[in-house]
Amino acid sequence: MQFKENETLIVLRFGELWLKGRNRNDYIRRLVKNIKEQLAGEHFTLERHFDRLIIRTNKKSDNDAILSKLKNVFGISRVEVAVTAKPTLAGISAAAKKMLSSRKEIKSIRINSHRSYKLLPFNSVDVVKRLREIAEKLGIDPTTKGYQAELNVSVTKDAAFISIDGQRGAGGLPVGTSGKAVILLSGGIDSPVAAWYAMKRGLEPVYIHLHAFQDSKQALDGKVTELFAILSSFYPHYRAYIMPSHLFQASSFKFGKYELVLLKAFMLRVAERVATKEGAKVIFTGESLGQVASQTPENLSAEQYGIKLPVLRPLIGYDKEEIIKVAKAIGTFDVSIRPYRDVCSIKSRNQKLNSKEEKVEELLGKMQIKSIVTRSLNASKLITA
Ligand code: ATP
Ligand code: MG
Repeated sequence: MQFKENETLIVLRFGELWLKGRNRNDYIRRLVKNIKEQLAGEHFTLERHFDRLIIRTNKKSDNDAILSKLKNVFGISRVEVAVTAKPTLAGISAAAKKMLSSRKEIKSIRINSHRSYKLLPFNSVDVVKRLREIAEKLGIDPTTKGYQAELNVSVTKDAAFISIDGQRGAGGLPVGTSGKAVILLSGGIDSPVAAWYAMKRGLEPVYIHLHAFQDSKQALDGKVTELFAILSSFYPHYRAYIMPSHLFQASSFKFGKYELVLLKAFMLRVAERVATKEGAKVIFTGESLGQVASQTPENLSAEQYGIKLPVLRPLIGYDKEEIIKVAKAIGTFDVSIRPYRDVCSIKSRNQKLNSKEEKVEELLGKMQIKSIVTRSLNASKLITA
């Protein structure tokens, strides 16, 4: 790859992908595809340069929009806005000096250097030493403790990249590299966070949302559409089954204190059916141990009795405050707390806390759950993006 001197570029690193040995190239290809899709509509070019991706922008580009979109792409470990220099001590020194001089607010700095091309006549220690001298001359304290900013130099055969204060990327794995997950998505706080964790580990989302409305249009007019949109900023594609709950409700109401556990058992059965159809290998929920009546160890166990796919609950050990912190960070919180006609909220009180698996199985049989799953799925609306 060719570089001019003094070009400003966005440099992306993909840390964790290196752990993946043989599959590395597939992962990087997927990451490149995902970045291009997430930046659709922006002006940029993207090229791979060894263990980094280089984004070049132009006059038409909205650099802030590009940077903020990149921060949401899973599989990127670091995002740096860097300036190029000749890969020589003199070239690096001149570029670093210019960069430091333009940042008068910086009074102390940590200087790091990495050299991936080992045949150059100088090494990283030489770079750091030289740049420390330059910083001192400019009245900036080069220190490794209590520094205000960091200057990173990355030297390759073709160019050196120099940046101040790179940002951590979203981390995780490129969406799609782990296959698909069926995610039970309510309108609440927890399940959108669980969906984010699923995507973070490389899973493509297939949502199921069970609603208490007359038709799916009413459900889609509500907050669930907004949640899909926010979650789409982390990966633009999803499939979503918008499913009515009335068929289930018509036959479960007579089971009073088991209603909530039966509802969860029903949802997991729907999820397993959808997973088979969609080729998904895992089911995700936003459950956290002991948070509500349906989430005691006994009830979690009774609900998933007979389900063959793994039911993954990334929030299982989280306190509500911890979940809320993530929900705020990913932008779903404000939508999640808006009032909503939730299927769970219309259930009767005094739910059983320690349902037995056999009892749940027996009640599901009495309800003819298989037929309810089939009919509910037939009545559901599939939306895709
Ligand atoms: P959440 O904030 O995600 O709604 P919660 O604390 O309200 O969670 P529950 O209502 O017991 O807990 O739901 C537990 C999990 O069951 C949810 O995290 C979600 O995965 C699934 N779930 C609940 N309601 C629905 C729904 N209407 N449609 C699809 N999945 C649901
Ligand atoms: Mg809920």
